[in-house]
Formats: sequence, C-alpha cells, structure tokens
Amino acid sequence: MISQHGLKAEEEQELRKLHDRLSTDRARRILHVNSEVRRHLRDFFLKEGFYEIPPVIIGPVTDPLNHPVAGTGIEYYGYRYSLTQSMIFHKQIALLSCDKLFAFSPNVRLEPLERRGTGRHLAEFTQLDMEVKGASRNEVIAIAERMYCYVIGHVKATCRSDLEYFRRKLHVPSRPFMRFDFTGAKREYGEEFETVLSFRAADPFFIQDISLNDREFYDREDPERPGILLDMDMIYPEGYGEALSGGEREYELEKIMERIRKKKQNPDQFRYYLAVAGMGLPQSAGFGIGIERLVRFITGIPNIEEATPFPKAIGRFSL
Ligand code: AMP
Ligand code: MG
Repeated sequence: MISQHGLKAEEEQELRKLHDRLSTDRARRILHVNSEVRRHLRDFFLKEGFYEIPPVIIGPVTDPLNHPVAGTGIEYYGYRYSLTQSMIFHKQIALLSCDKLFAFSPNVRLEPLERRGTGRHLAEFTQLDMEVKGASRNEVIAIAERMYCYVIGHVKATCRSDLEYFRRKLHVPSRPFMRFDFTGAKREYGEEFETVLSFRAADPFFIQDISLNDREFYDREDPERPGILLDMDMIYPEGYGEALSGGEREYELEKIMERIRKKKQNPDQFRYYLAVAGMGLPQSAGFGIGIERLVRFITGIPNIEEATPFPKAIGRFSL
C-alpha cells in the first residue's frame, strides 16, 4: 500500500515508530545519558591533555575492518572515496602534529545481515577514537581504565534520576581491571569465550594478545612473539560484550607491507596511506570506544537502536 506521501507501508510504519519513540520520557532520558556520556568523555580527554580533532567523514582510504561490510563509495571530483569505517589511518597521521588526540568519529559500516538483532550493531555509530604518540599497550589500557571509571562516576552523579528510572545500579570498579589472554581464553571457554566471560563478569575486563589473523593488519605484531598482536578489547560485564578495541600500531612501511601481504589484502587499496607511511609515521597506540554501546550498557537497554535518536538499523529502512 502506498501512503499519502508515496511511502511504502513499512516505511510509514518505521517513521510512526520513530515519532512515537522520540515522544516518550524514556527517549528523553536515554538522550540525556547519551549527551552526558559525550560530555564526560570529552572532559576526561581534555583534562588528560588530549587535543580534540574534527572527525573525518570521507577519504580515499579507510579501515578495511576484519569482517566483510558492503562498500560505501562516493564520487569525489573524479576520485573514488568512501565513508569512514574508522579513523585509524587518519589518527596515525594526525599524530604528526600533536602527541595525544581524540575525535568523536561517525563511522558507517554496512554490517552483514547476520548482525541484525544482536542488539549491539548499527550501520552508523560514533566512536570516541583516541591515539597517543609513543605509547605502549599498557599505557592506553591504563587510560581506558581511568576513562571508564571517570565516565561511570560522573554519570552516576549527573544522571541519577535516569539511572533510577532504568533501575540501573552502576559501580566504579577498582583498577587495574582483569586481563585474559586471547588464545588461553579461547582454549578454556571455547569460541564464544567473550560472551561467556562477559556474562560471568561483574566488572569490565580486557582480552589481550589477539592472534594475527583475527585482527586488521595495522595492529602491531609483538616482535618477541610472532603471530601475537599487541592489542586488546575491553569487554563490558553482565553480557553486554565488547566495549572497545585498540592496541599498538604498525608504523614502519616495510612492516605494514608485510602485514598487508600476510592478510592477503591488495596493497593498492591502501596506496595513499602507504605513501604517507613511507614519509614516516609516529609510533603510537590507541583505541576506539562505541558511544551507543556505552549508552546501552549504562542504561541497560537491550537494543542499541534505542541508544541514539536516529539509529541506522541493519537491513532496514531508517530515517
Ligand atoms: P572496532 O575497531 O571494529 O572494534 O570498533 C571499535 C568500537 O566501535 C567497538 O569496540 C564497538 O564499541 C564499536 N562498534 C563497532 N562496530 C559497531 C557497530 N556496527 N555498531 C555499533 N558499535 C560498533
Ligand atoms: Mg573490535
């Protein structure tokens, strides 16, 4: 059936659902939490001496990701650009002009349909993406721990009535958080180790030393332990799953090329990045944390599609 405005019935239905949802007190509270999460994250990084850099929306090269997503190419004056899937390469390059940076970076990832209904995936989301020149993995893990405790502590204070409304009791954990070794955790808890451990945990924890084939080429291989990456994921407790991913980065052209070859990727796809890497990139480490997942965890809402006013739902028409 076609509506008065020429919309299909399911499109009209989606818009009605959106209109109804945004008109509720619940939506206002979630938006308040979203807004406060952004404020406290920004305050935290500015207090720690980071520069906020503007996000990159389009570019001739973007994160290839470690799983297949549909392309998002656009025409750019005779060039083929894509929408940013993550700012990883631009973060590394921007460290030429400062020592510590962060961005609220919108990412578009046309995720596979299997990721529909996970409650954790959107086709457009925002990462607080940060990078630190000369840092080790341990140093950025320590920043992630301080960041988490800062944001949870401040949200508890400024969103008290929202947390009561959602019956959400959050606590600021003690640091350092627990760490699990990727291969060891897989051996002990099976393929679904992340989910198992997340449901079991009362506090966030890290999974580190991920195998080379399980992550992108830019995560740094441990020179002492070939095949093991100096990277990590932080996982939320209570079954909320992955919060952030990060680690040390490859920064030397030869090593980057070797890693691209090992991943059987086409270096040509990354030629603009490789050209800059050839001019010299700083050694660095960093991470990216998804804002909508953090809002979902803080409010305890089951579906990430509620965490933001205009969610781009996987496989479905969305405003
Ligand atoms: P990644 O580097 O792919 O691990 O992405 C960094 C962070 O962004 C993840 O740890 C999540 O918090 C978030 N994220 C990644 N993909 C999505 C998605 N499709 N929808 C919502 N958040 C996401
Ligand atoms: Mg990840």
